[in-house]
Amino acid sequence: MNPVEEAAQMSDLDKCVQCGKCTAGCPAGRQSRLRIRALIQMAYEGRDVTDLKELWDCTTCYNCAERCPKGVNTVDAVILLRNLAVRRGNFPRLHVNAIENLYRTGNGFPLSLEVAKIRSVIGLDKPHDVSTDAEELSKLQKLIDILKFREMVQGASK
Ligand code: SF4
Ligand code: SF4
Repeated sequence: MNPVEEAAQMSDLDKCVQCGKCTAGCPAGRQSRLRIRALIQMAYEGRDVTDLKELWDCTTCYNCAERCPKGVNTVDAVILLRNLAVRRGNFPRLHVNAIENLYRTGNGFPLSLEVAKIRSVIGLDKPHDVSTDAEELSKLQKLIDILKFREMVQGASK
């Protein structure tokens, strides 16, 4: 069994009946090349999908998994396949910036001045998360350092 087949088995992709409800409810699929039903079918057949760009279009919103009538772990499959992709050196350079932002600010996509202004106009404060808590940010940075996460994605990016 190859690693893609192993990921497929761990995610119960054999339960899929190809009904398409996952793709129909996928918000990322409306804006990108991602067709989750087709992706998991290819993985189930053991085809190497770890170099497909659409693997990184999923936002892991779990809409597909919640809609699936067969309980297929579509999102687990995406995550396992991404892990495999990184180990094979297939990490989109575009996402390296998000990792660097995460390390520097505690948020992969820091609040822009424009969004902060809109939030203020509609009466919303700055969100309270790791990015606004120096102690928590320090813990996050330590964890990223221990895991050598930045080095790993830098080495795998292309
Ligand atoms: S909703 Fe579930 S059963 Fe239907 S195609 Fe998607 S993964 Fe397969
Ligand atoms: S988890 Fe990914 S594949 Fe599933 S609906 Fe959300 S964006 Fe689409």
